[in-house]
This record gives sequence, C-alpha cells and structure tokens, in this order.
Amino acid sequence: MFKPKAIYFEKEITNYPLGKELIEKYKEVPKIEIENHNNIEEMRKKSNKEFLNMKRNLIIGVRKTHKFVDNHKTSDYLVPYTSSGCTASCMYCYLVCNYNKCAYLRLFVNREQMLDKIIKIANQAEKELTFEIGSNSDLILENTITNNLVWTIENFKNTKQGKLTFPTKFDMVDSMLPLDHQGKVIVRMSVNPEEIINKVELGTSRLQGRIEAINKLKEAGYEIGILIAPVILVENWKELYQELIKRLSEELSEKVKKDAFFEIIFMTYSYIHTKINEEAFESGDILYNKEIMTGRGRGKYWYKNQVREEAEIFLREQMNKYFAKNKIAYIV
Ligand code: SF4
Repeated sequence: MFKPKAIYFEKEITNYPLGKELIEKYKEVPKIEIENHNNIEEMRKKSNKEFLNMKRNLIIGVRKTHKFVDNHKTSDYLVPYTSSGCTASCMYCYLVCNYNKCAYLRLFVNREQMLDKIIKIANQAEKELTFEIGSNSDLILENTITNNLVWTIENFKNTKQGKLTFPTKFDMVDSMLPLDHQGKVIVRMSVNPEEIINKVELGTSRLQGRIEAINKLKEAGYEIGILIAPVILVENWKELYQELIKRLSEELSEKVKKDAFFEIIFMTYSYIHTKINEEAFESGDILYNKEIMTGRGRGKYWYKNQVREEAEIFLREQMNKYFAKNKIAYIV
C-alpha cells in the first residue's frame, strides 16, 4: 500500500467530498499547501536524481481542464480523468514530460464534474461512444488510494449507452469483481516479458499477477483487451516475446482467449528519458540503443523503420501461431 511521504494540496480540495476524505485518510502525513498542482516550484527545481523520491509524494488538486481529445484506436475520446502520473517508475513511461513537472501522482477530487460530462456526452451521442479514461495515469493503482474506479463504474452503469476503457499494469482488481458494471467497461491489461517487467517496469505488478487479474476480470464479465506494450527490442527480444505470447496462450482462461483483442505498441523514447534514467536509476539508461533507434523530431526516438517492420512480421507470426482467432486492433 502506497504511503505518501508528503501531501501537496490545493486549498479548494476541501470543498469536495473526496478531498475531505483524503485529508482525513492521510491526517498523519505532512502537508504542504500549493497554489496550483500544475506548477509546483519546489518540484520543478529538483534534479533528475530526485526523480524516484519525488514519486513518493502525493499531489491533490482540482482538475480545471476537461478537454476531450478525439482518438481512433480503441476509443472515441481520450478524457482527462481523476488522476495524472503514477507512483511506479517504468523507465520508458509515456507520462514523463518536461523533466520533473508531472511524473508524480496527482489526484483530482472533482470527480462528479468529470463523470457528469462523460455521461452527458455518452447519452446525447447518436452512436455508442467509448471513453478512454486512463490515458494520463493508471486507474487500478489510483483506485487503491481513492476507490475512484469502483465509484466510477457504479455511477456509470445506468447510462443509456457508452463504454469506459483504461489500460493498466496492476493486478489489484478484487474490488472491481463484485460490481454490476453492465458490460460497459473494457479493461486493457498491458503485458511484457517477465524479464522486461522486472528490469524496466519498476513498481508495477508482476506478469503472473497481471495474467491472474485478466482471468478474474473476465470471469466477472468485463470485456478484455491485452496490450503487448511497449515492445522493447532488447538483445534477446525474439525469445522473450515468443515466450510471452506462448505463456499467455497457456495461462489465460478459455473465456479470455475466446474474444480478447490485442494492441501491440513499440516503445518510443526521448532525450528526457535518457537523462532521467542515467541520473535516477542505478542501472543507468538501459533502453536507448542508437544502433536500432532513430530521431523522430523534438528529442524523440523510435525504432528504425526496417527494424520495426521485421519485428512486426515476427510478432504477427507468433500471434498467428498462438492467438489466430483473436483480433489485433493495431500494431504501431
Ligand atoms: S504504470 Fe503506466 S503510468 Fe505508471 S510509470 Fe508505468 S507506464 Fe507510467
């Protein structure tokens, strides 16, 4: 269970039930009042070496921007929701931005306002819309602190139409199992070879736990997606990903295998990651490989086209061998 070292909070949070609840829950934890969760000067000034220490704090505020962004992958909209950032430390995390500005976990207590907007748009739409509510954080992790996911599912179930979806790397799903979700929630579990999880996805659930969580969620009636992501082309990647796909085929339940869909995403990386990882992790930066990566504008890297194409062919072959009947929504 995550126990914050300190809580940075905006004063207005006490105007919301969840804000009051969190202040009470963490009454023993030192608190620092802040003006704006988006701009905590003390955090911005810290060096990259402090990256992991900073993630031991919890920031609580009110979300002011509620702009939905069109999406064309597995949802219709990316929706800013109840949290941003995370307490885990995946070395490639796509939420690492502007050095130390926003990698730590920030909770937003105005959940009623955010969910009301989703429900309104879902009910007014001419077709069934899917809302991605987990693109800024990991909601299964967040739920262990706020119970927000349980609250969300219970309050969304009576909408006329619409679905919610989110990805996760965590296995603490038991509180979701008894809920009456009305088939409106798609959980997308992200997996990687065990060796990669252990070395790179620090602070997340291990592969075994994630597989068990998928089976339990399916048994509880949730729609399941599986993200093989991010695919990291380490030296022995072929062996690792072949083993992973085989293991999934052996350990996922028949119910999951019947209709789970897959998303496959290659790792992208950045100059900022290399700097933080070099300075904050004992292992240094183990992900950047200049032989097979190339620049992609504004300090970003991705795998060279030819490398990526060959890897895609290999992964499709493996998927064909072990999951021939399952849909691959996309490989990017
Ligand atoms: S679990 Fe997700 S949000 Fe958290 S550090 Fe890893 S990639 Fe980032």
